[in-house]
Amino acid sequence: NLSEKLDSALHVLKGHGQITEVNVAETLKEVRRALVDADVNYKIAKDFTNVVKKKALGQDVLKALKPGQMMVKLVKDELTDLMGGEAEGINLSGDPSVILMSGLQGSGKTTFSGKLAKYLKNKKTKKPLLVACDVYRPAAIDQLHVVGEQVDVEVFSDKGNQDPVAISKAAIAHAKANGHNVVIIDTAGRLAVDEVMMTEISNIHNEIKPHETLFVVDSMTGQDAVNTAKTFNERLNFDGVILTKLDGDTRGGAAISIKSVVNKPIKFIGTGEKMDALDVFYPGRMADRILGMGDVISLVERAQEQYDEEEARKIQKKIAKNKFGFDDFLKQLQQIKKMGSMKDLMGMIPGAGKMLKDVDIDDDAFKGIEAIIHSMTPEERSNPKIINSSRKKRISKGSGTSVQEVNQLLKQFNQMGKMMKMMQGGGGQKMMQMMKG
Ligand code: GDP
Ligand code: MG
Repeated sequence: NLSEKLDSALHVLKGHGQITEVNVAETLKEVRRALVDADVNYKIAKDFTNVVKKKALGQDVLKALKPGQMMVKLVKDELTDLMGGEAEGINLSGDPSVILMSGLQGSGKTTFSGKLAKYLKNKKTKKPLLVACDVYRPAAIDQLHVVGEQVDVEVFSDKGNQDPVAISKAAIAHAKANGHNVVIIDTAGRLAVDEVMMTEISNIHNEIKPHETLFVVDSMTGQDAVNTAKTFNERLNFDGVILTKLDGDTRGGAAISIKSVVNKPIKFIGTGEKMDALDVFYPGRMADRILGMGDVISLVERAQEQYDEEEARKIQKKIAKNKFGFDDFLKQLQQIKKMGSMKDLMGMIPGAGKMLKDVDIDDDAFKGIEAIIHSMTPEERSNPKIINSSRKKRISKGSGTSVQEVNQLLKQFNQMGKMMKMMQGGGGQKMMQMMKG
């Protein structure tokens, strides 16, 4: 995902104690590539990195005490700006305030309507009414009723009535008569933008004149999300964007592009299917999320403190010559241990974070590995290919481990060797792909 790629982009800084003009450019090129890969429009990404570059060179980042950190801060601040300043709320000035949902089918309108109803209800002063205007699918009306029950909010529907404008008007009248001060209108979407849908939603919009029109978009749809946002905005001139499905490993690129293209604030994000999986959108937090900030900063810092460049260069030579053996592996392990606790560290390795997310690694995990390597002869360490089954038995006995564990280490070592060779051959991209599966 984007943060992993940015991790690796900023990783360029790791080997260098200092940032030079050359590696500012190099790093930003990687940042740009990462943004484009995460579905940020190419031009937006390019403008973005140009601005950062100018600022980086202008602000004496090069002479800063901790250039890596300063660079990360610059990237973060610019990303935050790009996604819009402070979080903007929803216009609730009407009585009732009418909120209209728009967006494609499956974008999360019904789910978000329920979440918003719950969110507003919790404010105590608000008594929302949910309105079912997805008139073509009876199941959609039922779905809103289920959602309404979950959040304990009344749902207004009129099964059989095919006119969403009439339903909306009746719902608003019902709200007035029953003391609802917020009306949330859930509408029908289609799988792709088409004239029928656009006409219907524009009609509701023109007739009802909502206080707030929201465009709900699935953040997993990437670049398509941007085009859809553009089309809806041209017809509805909506007030804000809701980015759904930003849970798990979803790319954050849509947030950046949509904001730049339609210039409307992103107001909320959906982070799960449950009714409380709703967050106010904060550009700064989103930038953190995209960058995986904490990790990048500490990686840059710790790397600068501890990384032994000389050692690294030696090892690189060995990898290139296919001479990376268990002794080197052991040295690497010790280097890593010096740098900090394992769990933290593995998570910071670009690309590895995802792989290791669910694995519980503790420093003890190395004891077995170290014992196995210590039980190998020097020949076995430098040329692991010779380790046959009788040698495996001997090693396992000597290290107090099982043959299985020895096998596992050998297998991992093999895989690692393959990966390292790929990296060497300028195949960093290839490796990222492999890691992503
Ligand atoms: P609609 O057609 O626009 O009304 O979309 P729905 O609200 O029915 O949502 C479509 C699917 O996406 C459903 O399975 C929802 O549970 C799911 N969904 C909606 N919002 C989110 C979210 O923020 N995260 C996740 N993981 N799923 C979501
Ligand atoms: Mg729906």
